[in-house]
Amino acid sequence: MRFVAPDRYAALKATGKLLSPKGVALAIIHLLQRDDYRVADLVQLVQSDPAIAGRVLYFANAAIFGRSRPIVSLHGAIIALGTFRLRDLVIGLSVMNEHRQGRCAAFDYEGFWAHSLATAIACQQLAHFAQIASEELFTIGLLSRIGELALASIFPQEYSELLVAARESKLDLTPIEQQRFGMDHLDLAASMLAEWGLPEVLIQAAFHHDNPDDAGFADGSRGQTLTHCLSFASALARLCMVDEESRWSLLPALLARAARLGIDSDELNALVDGMVRRWREWGAKLQLRTQDLPPFAEMLAASPPMRRMGTAGDSERSRAPSLLVQLIGIAPDERSPLEQQIEDLGHRTELLAATDQGLAQALARPGQIIIVEMAAADLKAVEFCRQLRRSALGKDSYALLLASPEMESRALQAVDAGADDVLIKPLNAQTLRVHLNAAARMLIVKEEIQRERIGVMRSTDEFAVAQKRLLQDALTDPLTQLPNRRNGLDFLASEWIFAQASGAPLACLMLDIDHFKRVNDDYGHAAGDSVLRQLAEILKSSSRSVDLVFRYGGEEFAAILTNADLRAALQIGERIRVLVEHNEFLWERQRIPLTLSVGVAVALGAKSDSLTLIQAADAALYQAKAAGRNRVVAAK
Ligand code: GH3
Ligand code: MG
Ligand code: MG
Repeated sequence: MRFVAPDRYAALKATGKLLSPKGVALAIIHLLQRDDYRVADLVQLVQSDPAIAGRVLYFANAAIFGRSRPIVSLHGAIIALGTFRLRDLVIGLSVMNEHRQGRCAAFDYEGFWAHSLATAIACQQLAHFAQIASEELFTIGLLSRIGELALASIFPQEYSELLVAARESKLDLTPIEQQRFGMDHLDLAASMLAEWGLPEVLIQAAFHHDNPDDAGFADGSRGQTLTHCLSFASALARLCMVDEESRWSLLPALLARAARLGIDSDELNALVDGMVRRWREWGAKLQLRTQDLPPFAEMLAASPPMRRMGTAGDSERSRAPSLLVQLIGIAPDERSPLEQQIEDLGHRTELLAATDQGLAQALARPGQIIIVEMAAADLKAVEFCRQLRRSALGKDSYALLLASPEMESRALQAVDAGADDVLIKPLNAQTLRVHLNAAARMLIVKEEIQRERIGVMRSTDEFAVAQKRLLQDALTDPLTQLPNRRNGLDFLASEWIFAQASGAPLACLMLDIDHFKRVNDDYGHAAGDSVLRQLAEILKSSSRSVDLVFRYGGEEFAAILTNADLRAALQIGERIRVLVEHNEFLWERQRIPLTLSVGVAVALGAKSDSLTLIQAADAALYQAKAAGRNRVVAAK
């Protein structure tokens, strides 16, 4: 990764033309640089700019996947997002606010932000695949091309000329930028994002996302995954920005990138459609021009634009592939219309008879697409498909079966044997086009994927699994396998916000083993550990699925009971107490008697924050101990 030389950067800053976060964003950067900031100060800052505040709230709600409950307060949004992600998000939104237009004539400011927003939202939709927080991905998506905007702002005249020249000569921007300015938009973006305090891994992703494979990331590293995500998101954003005619040529690379991230076709359809919907929603909110797109599945089925346009000039842009389509055993009267239709779609045809000789030829020199007539005399289509799949060359061909409606069930057998698709007669031009386009696309994708390094794909998978495990480990107590304290307190914080907003009750139990030191003393530490594990099992099985029981520390456990009032919480606490009292805790065939004391507190009215609930339950627990142990006591 390269940065602009520090002296040069300082000089650029001194001109006052370099973009920088202003207002709230700047204030937040400064606030978070102190270690004694309070969330309340942060809330106040964000609130001071209603446009930003509204977007943060909207964003937090859209970002928190898997939550059905709305976040209604800014405080809640900030907790849900985390303060540093909030900072990055506000930087992104603020820079977008301040630089909606400018003096660089050839720079499409609105298009720039519409594309950046699409990238940001696509990134966010990918968070699940990348195992990376969606807010981080959103911000880097929004700011990944910030260097271009900065160049347009510092050198409006020269950059405008350069953009025009690059467009005409179809050249890459970065080398010409280097030549003209001694730096390019990537260097500049890296320097700016670093100055604003964004995490280095995000800056690297922005720097390398145009050529992720040249970046030299370790296989399976977080940087690599992130950069591939950004690269995919940016390709998807481009698809959203271009007109219908140009879309087709962007699809193969997009599909290959999706496959690279392990996104299958159903997931991809949902991801793209969801992304477009959210892009349009956000666009309307931010007054950015977006366009409506058809469902992704429809885009895939659309025909190559070159043919529809009928102009040769488009051929380079759309790169519609010309494929060899072999036709086997087609009846004489169906041959020429079929050949004509296929050639109209830009492919070549070859007719083969359904004889041994014809089939041998197909197996020896298979076309990229093979259409087989099921009804051809002497042809065992099922057997042919099986052989095709086994042959070294034929396994990559796309086999289509032509069947009449009454042959459909046999055709399905052939699909089991390896055919790719079935065409039911009578065949109209439209149906044929859709199926051949699907075939062409499959072939292109297969090819692109084969070109990708298989090792990387595998390690990306492994990476995802490892990430999941790491995340799991970070949130789980190793001894009992219960959620750990951090996990429990996070859960409490988010349930707290909901309870405050909705008025639903929320209860907390603190449970502490009575005289646990004696267990260690009498039976040994290993026995103590075993008892803790056995108790964890009881707590797990006696709690509702909506509740969270976690190990608070040592021999102390806590339970967060959602939607439970004091009566319900006392009942649950008492049930657990009785279960424990009557349970046989065993260690090396000895029975260890055990009891618990339980403190119960319920969140009522506006307590200042979620920790006060824990403190109240803890105070009640202390009362239970003082009153003789093995009992449940409610907080006063
Ligand atoms: P009380 O009824 O007042 O709670 O008495 P207690 O003995 O349970 O209370 P105290 O908190 O004084 O002691 C808790 C003991 O639990 C001390 C510590 O050695 C033991 N302990 C904490 N964590 C573990 C653990 O992971 N394994 C084992 N075996 N013991 C633990
Ligand atoms: Mg104890
Ligand atoms: Mg204790």
